[in-house]
Amino acid sequence: MSDFSEEFRMPKSCPNCGNHMMKVSQEKNADDGVFCASCNTEVCSWADAEQILAETPRSEAEQLIEDVKNNKRPTDDDV
Ligand SMILES: [Zn+2]
Repeated sequence: MSDFSEEFRMPKSCPNCGNHMMKVSQEKNADDGVFCASCNTEVCSWADAEQILAETPRSEAEQLIEDVKNNKRPTDDDV
């Protein structure tokens, strides 16, 4: 078993920490696990990830990044 893995951004976020950066083994077997690059939670299988990526147009993936940025604005204005 090699410890080489590849990181990629996935539209589906980690259910544990909400991170979109995932890692998968370089072999990318269909039943290899896709893990959160931040907290190491197994999010789905590579087969699932491939399907999600295939169904998501590039522009939509970039929109998701914008949404993440927008959600990070401070919320200290609730008087
Ligand atoms: Zn995570």
